Amino acid sequence: MVVPYTFGLHEIATDTYAYLQPDGSLGLSNAGLIVSGDEALLVDTLFTVPSTRAMLDAVARALPGVTVTTLVNTHSDGDHWWGNQLLPDASIVASEAAATAMRDDRLYELLADPGDLRLPRFVDDLRKTFDFGGITPTLPNRTFSGELELTVGRRTVRLIEVPAAHTRGDVLVHVPDAGVLFTGDLLFVGGHPVIHSGPIGNWIAACERVLGLDGVTTVVPGHGPVSGPAEVRRFRSYLERVRDHATRAHRAGLPVLRAARETDLTGFTDLADPERLILNIGAVYRELNGDGTPAEEELLPLLGQWLDHRGAPVPPPGT
Ligand SMILES: [Zn+2]
Repeated sequence: MVVPYTFGLHEIATDTYAYLQPDGSLGLSNAGLIVSGDEALLVDTLFTVPSTRAMLDAVARALPGVTVTTLVNTHSDGDHWWGNQLLPDASIVASEAAATAMRDDRLYELLADPGDLRLPRFVDDLRKTFDFGGITPTLPNRTFSGELELTVGRRTVRLIEVPAAHTRGDVLVHVPDAGVLFTGDLLFVGGHPVIHSGPIGNWIAACERVLGLDGVTTVVPGHGPVSGPAEVRRFRSYLERVRDHATRAHRAGLPVLRAARETDLTGFTDLADPERLILNIGAVYRELNGDGTPAEEELLPLLGQWLDHRGAPVPPPGT
């Protein structure tokens, strides 16, 4: 089934929906809905209270009488859980590792009111696009590690936690009777991903895990259009490209920014947000250094440098 990449709720298999937010750039995440009778399981809320409210209103209009009884948060990034408070009566499920990260998350406060702090420009830009007011962090009330099978009405939904990749505690949501998989941010389509955690090898292994799942024909990424196994294979190739390039660049002693700019993107030039290569190559460097450096916080200002010089020639060695 070809699902148009247009804003809103789409039925992607019988009683199985994706809520899409083109163009999938920072903060514009997808969600999912699995319905059985008058019950539903929601996969992820959105970045803000108003955007989550709009999604729940769309669900209520399309499916009157259906109640979201279970919410699964695929991981701890705000664009997948900061709207949780609008489902106060639901069972809210996440991996224990994701729940731990969510408990420590204070970024929403900074985005709502940075006070005297000067935020990097691309972070500040988020504040112009999204309304971060009124967020009351609403944490999972049921956690697990490894795998968990949930029931919604007469249907079964499998949660599969994979070893740290995009973040710690990433979870795949498999709906076997529909051949559908919601990947959260373990799959980005149309843009470069972000490796917050890694190691990158775990993410490549997560792609293998996805490709090994029986009967999955429809894959809903965390960001981007509804896809299938072909996009997962392409994404795995991207990760292998980044891993191999970063490993060579690290051996050659290249600074992260230069290594990012020199990445051979043949076959991937259509992907948006190439500045994220800085984080991804930095994550491989961190893994190879083994001492926690360069930390993600050190890399973020480099994203600003990349964006400020967009279109400019590659800077000379040593920058
Ligand atoms: Zn996301």
